[in-house]
Order: sequence, then C-alpha cells, then structure tokens
Amino acid sequence: MEIKKVVVIGSGTMGSGIAAQLCNANIPVTLLDLTTEISKKARERIQKSRPPLLIDKSKINNINVGNINDNFNLVNEADWIVEAVVERIDIKHQIYEKIFKERKIGSIVSSNTSSIPISILSEKLSTEDKKDFCITHFFNPVRYMDLLEIVKSENNDITKIDALKKFCEEDLGKGSIVCNDTPGFLGNRIGVYAMQVAMTEAFKMKLSIEEADAIFGRPMGIPKTGVFGLYDLIGIDLMADVLKSFIKELPKSDAFQEVAKEIPLVKKLIETGYTGRKGKGGFYRINKIDNKKVLEAINLETGEYFPTKKIDIKSTKVDLNNLINRKDKYGDYAWSVISKIIKYASSLVPGITDKFNDIDEAMRLGFNWNRGPFEMLKEIGVKNFFEKIDNFENNEFLENLSKTKNENFYGERQMYTEIETLGKIKPKALILDKEESADIYRFKDFNIVEFKTKANALDYNSMDCLKKATDKPLIIINESMQFSAGVNLTYTMDFANKGDYNSIEKFVKYFQETCKHLKYSQYPVVSAPSGLALGGGFEVLVQSNFVVSHTNIVIGLVEAIVGLIPAGGGCKEMLWRWSQTEENKKDPDFAPLKVFDIIGHGKTATSPVEAEPLKYLIPENKKVMSRNSLLSISRKILEDNKDFKPPEECKFKLSGEKVRKKMLNSLEKLVNEKKILEHGLEVGKELAYVLSGGNTDISKELTEDDLFKLELDAFMKLIQTKKTQERIKYTLSTGKPLVN
Ligand code: NAD
Repeated sequence: MEIKKVVVIGSGTMGSGIAAQLCNANIPVTLLDLTTEISKKARERIQKSRPPLLIDKSKINNINVGNINDNFNLVNEADWIVEAVVERIDIKHQIYEKIFKERKIGSIVSSNTSSIPISILSEKLSTEDKKDFCITHFFNPVRYMDLLEIVKSENNDITKIDALKKFCEEDLGKGSIVCNDTPGFLGNRIGVYAMQVAMTEAFKMKLSIEEADAIFGRPMGIPKTGVFGLYDLIGIDLMADVLKSFIKELPKSDAFQEVAKEIPLVKKLIETGYTGRKGKGGFYRINKIDNKKVLEAINLETGEYFPTKKIDIKSTKVDLNNLINRKDKYGDYAWSVISKIIKYASSLVPGITDKFNDIDEAMRLGFNWNRGPFEMLKEIGVKNFFEKIDNFENNEFLENLSKTKNENFYGERQMYTEIETLGKIKPKALILDKEESADIYRFKDFNIVEFKTKANALDYNSMDCLKKATDKPLIIINESMQFSAGVNLTYTMDFANKGDYNSIEKFVKYFQETCKHLKYSQYPVVSAPSGLALGGGFEVLVQSNFVVSHTNIVIGLVEAIVGLIPAGGGCKEMLWRWSQTEENKKDPDFAPLKVFDIIGHGKTATSPVEAEPLKYLIPENKKVMSRNSLLSISRKILEDNKDFKPPEECKFKLSGEKVRKKMLNSLEKLVNEKKILEHGLEVGKELAYVLSGGNTDISKELTEDDLFKLELDAFMKLIQTKKTQERIKYTLSTGKPLVN
C-alpha cells in the first residue's frame, strides 16, 4: 500500500492540522467539510497559524478544498481517507457510509476520534470494510506533537496497519504507536489520570496551585505548565467533557473514577466563563490593577484570586528520589502523585497493552514528559519503591516485580519503532563523561554529546564537553525538546552582577575557541538540531561540519533583542556565507549589509525552508521530518565521510568605514522612524563595527581570529552597559524581550 493522495474530512482544529502535516510531507491532500466556505476558511487559518502549521507557507495551495456534497468523488482517488469531523457517532456513521460506497478498493480509512471505541465506530461496516478501518489519533497541534496512536482491531489487515505506521513515522514524522481499542488509548488514559491525580491531591493536601505546578512540572520531568497551567491551556470545559467520557467508558472499579469526580470549584469556573486561556481566565488569570497586567492565581479553598507567588523549591535538577524523600509537604505531594501514577499505569499492564514501554513513550511523545511512569519507577529503584509503597492489590505487574525485585526490569527504550534512535542507543553506549551541562557517550567509533540544562542553555561546562568529545567523529544531538536556546544568560548575569567581567570574557573566548575547534578538528562534527537553535545554539551548529535538521526548528541569531551581538562566531559565519554569493562578488558590501539586517533585527526562521533564504541553513544541510531519524541520518553522514578533511580557514575582505557608513545611515533612519531608541542605536553601532571588519579596508585580508576578536570586543562593551543588563534581566524573568 502506497499513500500518494489523501482526503481529510472535517476541516476543524484536527482536520486542518492533519492536512497541513500532509502538505509538509509533499502529499497532495484535499480537505472536505460541510461547505467549501468552511474548508476555505480552514485553509486560511492554516496559512496564518502561529506557531505555523506549515513548514513552507508557499505550499498552501497544495491543500485542495471542497465540500462533502459536490466533491465527495475525490474520496475515490485517495489512498487514505481521514475522518476528523465532530465527536458525534451519528455523524461519523453517516460519513463512513458515504466513504465506503465511494472509496477505491484497498484504500485505508481512519478516524481521529479521541474517545469513541473502534468497535462502535465500525459497527455498521461489513467484515471486508472493517479490515481497512482503524483509528489514527493525532494530537494538537499536529505539526508539533510527536505522538500518533494507531488503534487497530482484531479485524484489521495487519500488513496495512504496518504500512500506515511506516508512512506516518517516516513521511509525517510521527512517533507512531500501535495500540488496542481501550478508552483513551495510552496517552490520554495515563496523561489525563496523572493530571487528575495532581489536581485532586493538591486539593486534598491543601497546596496552592502555584505550589502544585512547581512540583508537578520540571522537578518531575514534566513541562513547566504543571497541572493547573495545563488545564487552563487545554480548556477547563473541554477537560470536563473528556472526564465525562472516561467516566462513561471505564468500569466502576477503575481507579480513574475516583479522580474524575466533579469538583465544585471547577464546575463554578466553567459556569462563570472561566474556562481557561480562551475564556476569561481559569486557575490563573491576567488582571489589570492600576493599569498594570498582573498574573493572579485562584485560591483552591476560597475561589478568590490573588497575585501569583513564586515558589522556590530549591532544587533545579530532576532527581526523583530527592524529591519524594523531602521531609516537607512538597515531598509528600510528589510521592503521593508519582506513586499513584506508577500504580495506575502498571495496573493497566497487560490489560491495555502488554508493552509497558509503549506507555512511557506515549507520555514522552504526547505529553512531553521526559520520562514515563515506568522509567520513574526505574529511577526511584525497585527496592526503594517497595519500601515506601503501602498497597498494590490487583496489580499483576507490581506483584510480580515485588517478588523478583529486579532492578533491571526495564529493558530497551522506544520499542515501538525500528529506527535506531538516540533513546535506543544511549543505554548501549559507553558513558565517557557525565557533567553538569552535558553527557558524552561513545558508541562504536563515534561520540555523542547531549546537552542537558534547562532549554539546553550553554555554559563553560557545555563547551568543555564539546571540546573533549572531538577526539572521535562527533554527533551533537539531544532527546529533550530544544537543541539549545543559546548561551545561559543567568550564568552570564551571575558574573555581571558581581562585576566579574573577566570571567565573562574568559567564557566567550572559550566558546569561540571551542566552536573553531568543532569546525577544524580532524574528525567530522554533525549537529542534529530540533526545537530551538538560537544564539549560541545556532553558533554551535553553524560551526559544525554537517547539519541534519529536524523540520520543527526555530533557528536564528537573536542576541540583538537582548542588547548583545553574537560573539561565538555567529557574525563571522553569516558574513562568510553571504560573501559566497554572486551579489557579493559584484559588490563586497552586499554581505555585510545583508547580515547587518538579519542579525540587527534578530530574525528567526520557524523551519529549514524559512531558514535557507536567510542562510541560517544551506541547501547541503539535511532536512528531516522524523525526529527519530536524526541520529541514523547523522551516522550515515559520518560513514560517508570516513576520509573527512577539515575545511580551509576562511579569509574575509571587508570595506571597513565605507560599508559602516551605509549601516549607520540605515540606523539613523530607524531612529528617525522611532523604530529603535538610544540603546538600540548603540547595539547597532557595535554590530556595524564588527560586520564592517572594524579598522580595515577592502585591500586587507582578515582572518577568522580577527573577526572573533571584533565580536568579543563588541560583546564585552555591550554586556557592561546598564541597558543591556536591564534587557537581559527582563527577558530572564519574563521570557519575553524588553521593547524599548
Ligand atoms: P472541530 O469542531 O474543530 O472540527 C470539526 C469539523 O467537522 C468542523 O469543521 C465541522 O464543520 C466539520 N463537520 C461536522 N459535521 C461534518 C460532516 N458531516 N461532514 C464534514 N464535516 C463535518 O473538531 P476537532 O477538534 O478538529 O475534532 C475532530 C475530531 O478529532 C473529533 O473526533 C475529536 O474528538 C478528535 N480529536 C480532537 C483533538 C483536539 O485537541 N481538538 C485531539 C485529538 C482528537
């Protein structure tokens, strides 16, 4: 079965997300809804979506639109028909009747339902048609959520399910887990249970919502939105519907029932329009006090809102044992929540799946947890867990484990895929070094560096690891969401606050030295980014010899936004790339002016397709839809480059003051138009000095070291200004740039 054309029926949130992802994979797709007007609007929404659903916005017209009355014949041309209409069984049944009359023999038909069992969806189908019907449960937003649950029934032709899985994995880039027809499948069954436990325990243990979110978040390896933040994000009303459906579908004895009961405060929030971020607010809300926006949080006991309080649990690392053994309410809450999640997840094995591994992977892919419940159990340690847990009746998995006490019960990671991923390789690799900021692995004849700080922000120690790892061919790759959000600004500001600028200078120099080393060392270096590759993160990848980029990246040099300039080789590399163009051969000021515009505005790209016109990526860089494949494609590059020779050093010819004048003219224009203020001008001037080559003229040749020096000097000037420090502090505390 080959999938060359697809029809998606229902152009709402999910249908349009699925159509956009098919478009991203260059698969012709038609979106049908009740009227063409509705599907056209959906196409417009796709075009305008933020974060963008499309990798390449110019491809929008590859999504065909139509309606189910005049254009249903198109179903006949499709190899795969996806139903993504409203969650109503009568409507879904009507659609299936039409599809199975029209479709071509052998095509596959799937529903995106999140709660209706396959047995009910397909109850009116013939045995023959049932063979080709399954559920493909995508998550929202489809481009960015990695999980796809493919739900099969006993009637399915398994070779077809396997072919669909392969297509979704390789072409659509989804972590595709085949599962059985049980309520909520894997991700939502455990994920929603976990949210409910985190919420009900917070009520019971009288934690504030900020406290609960501070624990059920980063310290547990869960996204920082926590539970109440996530509730607001999803929609409190939508969550109530999801719970109703679980209550109806699950047996009375299921432990889910206990945590799914209606909570009076939640009911009141929904009734009064506090449905979350899309409503008037939710557990959190933004209130205007004295014309200032204030983030407030609800008091779970009184229902009143108060300005949020920052909770400092005095632990930055994910260390579950530390967390659950704390002798305070945070430790009690963490243990109560974690132990209940582990108990519930394990009670469902083998009922909902005989592969507990799939549950963990569903939580990673669908909820962005950095470990699933069974990995939590492994980390806590079997012996420790059983010493702490009180009862685990009717739990076959835990009963068996309590007898064997096998600490090595876990086995392999990511068993749902045959691709040799980073997750699979790590346990087999030799750990060469485990540092604060990164780990170094040796696998066969190459090294891997995985960053591991918050958003993989870079510091001295990350550079140390990169440098150490170049004694073999090297792949820089990581499992967490971001490749690197840039240099660790907290680390930099800690020195600045003490007035210790020497240490900052030492760090920047070391950053430069390391990046130069990556570029020119004897062995090839491959960077395999996904997620954020900003600032210093971009400088690491741009000075690697090869890049294998996931299609979901946000890439660029954003230093100017915080009042700095790139000083790890970013200016230099961008100058080099742009100076290789035909335009620059005619006019040597072309490259510096172009780079001045890009870096000065802190431009970013949200996909490799957008990155190429800015030259953040080049055509030689590989672009990959499947995140799981980044490692194997990087390895293939190493294999193909056994006789690697480092590149020749770059030399630059820049016109100094001549081009600088042009840059200053454009800065003046921006000042006049009030687009930048005094400090913006200051930053712009420093950038202009670097990109023009400083005190030089076109007859002189500059080396990479000359440019490094210019970058360093400008950076050191700016970091010592009050305004830049203010901007950095603002960004660190709000996550947003300070516009002034
Ligand atoms: P939605 O309400 O955003 O969109 C539904 C679309 O179906 C609308 O455009 C509507 O006009 C159209 N529609 C209704 N009847 C139709 C018919 N007879 N023929 C053609 N189109 C028709 O809904 P959604 O959130 O996109 O959900 C779609 C499906 O995906 C549901 O089964 C839902 O349970 C499931 N799902 C939703 C999410 C989510 O986060 N929204 C996640 C996973 C699964």
